[in-house]
Amino acid sequence: MAIATINPATGETVKVFEALTAPQIEQALALAQQTFEQYRHTTFEQRSQWLHAAAQILEAEEETFAKVMTLEMGKPLQAAISEVKKCAAVCRFYADHAAKFLADVPVQTDASLSLVRYQPIGAVLAVMPWNFPFWQVFRFAAPALMAGNVGLLKHASNVPQCALAIESILHQAGFPKGAFQTLLIGADQVADLVMDERVKAATLTGSELAGASLAAIAGKQIKKVVLELGGSDPFIVLASADLEAAIATAVTARMLNSGQSCIAAKRFIVIDTLYDEFETRLVEKYQALKVGDPMLPETDIGPLATPGILKDLDQQVQTAIQQGARVLIGGKPLGGAGNFYPPTILTEIPLGSSTAQEELFGPVAMLFRVATLDEAIQLANSTPFGLGASAWTTDAAEQERLTHELEAGSVFINSMVKSDPRLPFGGIKRSGFGRELSIQGIHEFVNIKTVWMK
Ligand code: NAP
Repeated sequence: MAIATINPATGETVKVFEALTAPQIEQALALAQQTFEQYRHTTFEQRSQWLHAAAQILEAEEETFAKVMTLEMGKPLQAAISEVKKCAAVCRFYADHAAKFLADVPVQTDASLSLVRYQPIGAVLAVMPWNFPFWQVFRFAAPALMAGNVGLLKHASNVPQCALAIESILHQAGFPKGAFQTLLIGADQVADLVMDERVKAATLTGSELAGASLAAIAGKQIKKVVLELGGSDPFIVLASADLEAAIATAVTARMLNSGQSCIAAKRFIVIDTLYDEFETRLVEKYQALKVGDPMLPETDIGPLATPGILKDLDQQVQTAIQQGARVLIGGKPLGGAGNFYPPTILTEIPLGSSTAQEELFGPVAMLFRVATLDEAIQLANSTPFGLGASAWTTDAAEQERLTHELEAGSVFINSMVKSDPRLPFGGIKRSGFGRELSIQGIHEFVNIKTVWMK
């Protein structure tokens, strides 16, 4: 895939970038290593000041950064502005809490002194996707930099200007040049980086294929990885649910980022007694959404990020139809310039079909009817994924069962699944392993050293 800015709303190639050469990558690795030796000794106070400065830069120029995102991957501008704000928030969160998260923890043993100490490990490689092109990177960079590590970013090939803007924000904020570097490289250049001894660990957010490939190479080198992969999150609506709130949330939960979110609700599992009303009203709500130019404030759904994503989604929907699914609205690309796909609802998807097992990365909702809570839980758990799960019920016993029995990295009751710097984020099963955000996120890439003295 060429490293280029291609406007997904028009198909126009705006700017093409050359991939870094081997000597340029060598230079970046040497700088990362050299910087780490000094950077690791900077104080939390100093790092915190730089990260606060980064938050200020983000907020001061939020519209500029948001426009770069919208231009490169097509998310509606208002959503891009919210994303910049969220990046500022995660910077402040770790700037304010990292020292506490990484403070020595004394432990009483038979030693005269024993404790747990958290130390930085060196250069961490982040392989990131285009769907939240700022957020995914800042949620990695903020804890990594506060922990005293240095970061190397291999961003998705369709968001090079976002990648360069993030590097520039962190440098302007005061971080040394080698503390965070963007490497404009293709996916085929990642393996050599993972094998380089100066790269100590890697984190990848993206597809299963990319995650498995990176983890295999890292495994051979005995290097730690965190994988944040795909999902097909269930959204369960039970008899006691506040239907009004559930339907309103079902719009945002599926259509956020034009449907291209790992934690989007992708399968709506609705109890028989509410199903017909839920279906009718969801159709009305989805039909009212405005698809169009993502730069316009009235647009709800922008184009999909690349022609490849549009083609894959179209193929998946056609396969679903062949397998017996019924299309309530949408169901094929809008045609014309840009990668536009309309809000789509599929029902009557055969349970054993490939469609019921797959992630649909676009504005396509799958609806399922169930008769009991048991059936809902079983269906929710029936995919290879386990990222998030949302369930709607006011019944305490049902809430208890759902939080225990849903196979997912997070369960949200009477809310959509969302990330929050204060809470850990990540998946189980084929959605990956490891956690980002919160105290758990900053502990992923540190040496958890046991100190014991007699
Ligand atoms: P992708 O193709 O896997 O790309 C993600 C990143 O991995 C890009 O930087 C890509 O580079 C790189 N990459 C691709 N193949 C690689 C390989 N063999 N070795 C090393 N790096 C490789 O993912 P995508 O399709 O763009 O993103 C959508 C997927 O990400 C969805 O499945 C979504 O659910 C998941 N996602 C998960 C989370 C989460 O937090 N769990 C968040 C967002 C998205 P190039 O661009 O150069 O190919």
